[in-house]
Amino acid sequence: MESYAPFLAALVALLIGLAAGKAWERYKIQEGRWIDRRRARESPHFILGLNSLVANQLDRAIEELAQAARLQPDALEIEMILGNLYRDKGQVGRAITIHQTLLQRPKLTRLEHAYILLCLGLDYKRGGFVDRALEAFNKVLRLEPQNPYALVNLQKLHEEQHQWKDAHDVRLRLVAISDAADQPRNRQILAFIENELGRDRLKQLDYKAAAARFHAAVELDARTVPAYLNLGDVRFSEGNLAGAAEAWERAVEVSPERAYLAFDRLESLYRAQHQLGRFQKLCQRLILANPKDWRAHLALARHVMAEGRTPDALELLFEALSHSPHALTIHQAIWHALLASGLEPALVNRYTELTRQSVFYLDPHVCQRCHYRSTELLWQCPHCHEWDTFVEDRIAPAQDAAVPDEADTPTLRA
Ligand SMILES: [Zn+2]
Repeated sequence: MESYAPFLAALVALLIGLAAGKAWERYKIQEGRWIDRRRARESPHFILGLNSLVANQLDRAIEELAQAARLQPDALEIEMILGNLYRDKGQVGRAITIHQTLLQRPKLTRLEHAYILLCLGLDYKRGGFVDRALEAFNKVLRLEPQNPYALVNLQKLHEEQHQWKDAHDVRLRLVAISDAADQPRNRQILAFIENELGRDRLKQLDYKAAAARFHAAVELDARTVPAYLNLGDVRFSEGNLAGAAEAWERAVEVSPERAYLAFDRLESLYRAQHQLGRFQKLCQRLILANPKDWRAHLALARHVMAEGRTPDALELLFEALSHSPHALTIHQAIWHALLASGLEPALVNRYTELTRQSVFYLDPHVCQRCHYRSTELLWQCPHCHEWDTFVEDRIAPAQDAAVPDEADTPTLRA
């Protein structure tokens, strides 16, 4: 059920394609056969089946379509849909049997052949038969080199196997057949795949090739944050500290909301260069641009703490907490600072007041596409396999709750 949208899209495309094919066949045969076909299509079971499908009632749809198929045993499209429905219900073996049987039919048109193979590929993929799925999608592409469903599924399979080079090649074929409007997304996906290719080179300690890949990634899409981080890591390993700082600072610049990913790296680098003031300035810039950036508050607070300015650090931490009450690291930093302040009662009271109505939860990162949740930021969703879809869910104290005197607490309104 979770992959319904692409399935329905494929189904609609399939029906349109088949209708066109059948219209042609209808005139060609000029005999009673197409009338039978129409009878099956116009039977209440077919219509009811499609209606149930649209209403997401899978069992009902299967029941009706099976009846329609019995009325017209050679109505290929109904059998094909039935197979897909069984797959969706998790009955992969049954789906495979239906689609394999359809493949045995004589006089299949090229389009029919391609779509049955596509269905079979999806069955194999669902069943975890990776090699057979790859083979099926490749066969589809031999019949229809530009079939976008086969290409997308092939790319995903290669990605799941970490065959980044193959995934890259398949995506290039999709790029060639996509509209101009889809190209930014295409470039983004290609950039992430380039980044993975670079990571592969990095594991082999081939710094030069790795850097070239990371460069290619940010050339394709300037917002590919992990590529900047990795590029900086390569330069750092090569002893090019200025180059490393430049790459990591660029990550902060292109994606301030992900700046924290570069914090540890930049902090230790600046420290090594005796330029810790640069780190504080960076945090201040981020806070100025986005006052709700709790990670920049936290990072700055740690610095301020290290300088012995505990009250300033606590102000920053309380501010951070009001924007992100669930972040355990803030609480830990606050306790550290409270202890350093000798547990001053006024400060402890402010803290307990701030946390009183906070909601705590563990997995704040959520995939915008499929709503998969994760405790950490992921660049590729393990559930729907899309790239760069995670955002951080924020839970702030309820707005209508009694707000304590704002003069002595940072605002509770997020
Ligand atoms: Zn997802």
